[in-house]
Amino acid sequence: MMTKNDRILIVDDEAEIRDLFRDVAEECGYEAAEAGNRAQFRAALSEFRPTLVLLDLTMPDGDGVELLREMADLGSRAGVILASGRDKRVLSTSERLGRSLGLKMHPPLQKPIDIVALENAFNACSQTVQEEPVSKSRPARPPLEPIAVAELADAIAEGQLEPFFQPKVNLLAGMDFPIIGAEALVRWNHPVRGLVPPGAFIPLAEENGLIGALTEVVLTRTIAHLRQWMDAGIAVPVSVNLSPNQLTDLSLPDHIADLLAVAGVSPSLLIVEITEQAAMADIGLATDILTRLRLKGIAVSLDDFGAGYSSLVEIYRLPLSEMKFDRSLIVDIDRDEDARTVVKALVPLARALDLTVCAEGIETAQSALFLQAIGCHRAQGYYFSKPVPADAFTTLLTEQPSRAHSVDAARS
Ligand code: C2E
Ligand code: MG
Ligand code: MG
Repeated sequence: MMTKNDRILIVDDEAEIRDLFRDVAEECGYEAAEAGNRAQFRAALSEFRPTLVLLDLTMPDGDGVELLREMADLGSRAGVILASGRDKRVLSTSERLGRSLGLKMHPPLQKPIDIVALENAFNACSQTVQEEPVSKSRPARPPLEPIAVAELADAIAEGQLEPFFQPKVNLLAGMDFPIIGAEALVRWNHPVRGLVPPGAFIPLAEENGLIGALTEVVLTRTIAHLRQWMDAGIAVPVSVNLSPNQLTDLSLPDHIADLLAVAGVSPSLLIVEITEQAAMADIGLATDILTRLRLKGIAVSLDDFGAGYSSLVEIYRLPLSEMKFDRSLIVDIDRDEDARTVVKALVPLARALDLTVCAEGIETAQSALFLQAIGCHRAQGYYFSKPVPADAFTTLLTEQPSRAHSVDAARS
């Protein structure tokens, strides 16, 4: 729904195009302003304060990427639609660049632009345009001190850390998407800070020699839950994340096997997730440790594939059972044909290497269906479920008979 606050700035060096775009924008209910050069663009950003910018990527006195950077430097919260007659890959990489600068990027438009496509884009953006929220007089909370190493060490020792479980579903069993496993993701139940996500303390644990103790908590608590689920007749394999420096600990395979044996849990119910970067730091040691984990019946999953620099060549050198596509690759498949092409080529490759393929970060039905159509085995993402405490995960499994049944079937 259009609000009277929808203000569009049309940036293009051709006056005729600006006029045409302006007419369409005003038809759609926007208040419109134009900029034909960089100076006008700057002035309009601060004076007109657009909520949406339609930006031509090729301007004579400053390319669109420079203008995006200016918007980011000014902390602009306006949405951006890029337009260009250039190669579509230039458009999509510019869009990604804008996103990485923290700008709110909408799908770009390829010139020549069809009027109906333009109207649709304007209407879609107006619904998502949001003014800076007016700050309600909420009592200000004193800022929290940065987490101290000693505080984290105490929390680990006192049992304030617990694994949450995010369901992994089977994409290739019709539209029921039965849960066939989970990933254990650590959370810190902090008495003052509330539930702290791992990004806020894993690096601190890694840098200060606490990651071994942290992983021990996640492993032992996960294995205890696996035991409880087995006792309830449910066999769900669960993945646990390992940190890079654990891939240099030669005693790790025996230690994990001992924990499983003591709890009476089959090694086939545990998967360890590692990143390629971690494995590459010392490929010899990592291969030794991972191979022995595999020999003990524990599966190895390559996490975050497609984030940063992934080398396709290395994946056959590691004793992997599963490959997980990173969320950054998956979020692109809804809007970027090239990303779909890459994922579509990777799935058969991974399958040909006998790897199970799992996609992470599925947030839409559209991406779930695309991945299903190209033969991706498993998926994990908010579309199915966020990570939940163990009790809630048990409920998810037991309250949905078809899912629990499928889990049983998966075991056999
Ligand atoms: P990861 O192993 O790649 O885990 C997936 C992350 O993506 C989780 O974030 C999960 O909540 C998030 N995620 C899954 N689906 C979606 C989605 O659809 N949308 C969005 N926006 N996010 C989604 P989380 O729990 O914050 O964990 C972040 C990272 O912290 C993990 O990335 C992992 O690298 C690390 N981590 C978590 N638990 C542990 C642990 O016990 N040990 C170690 N060493 N690292 C851990
Ligand atoms: Mg993981
Ligand atoms: Mg991941």
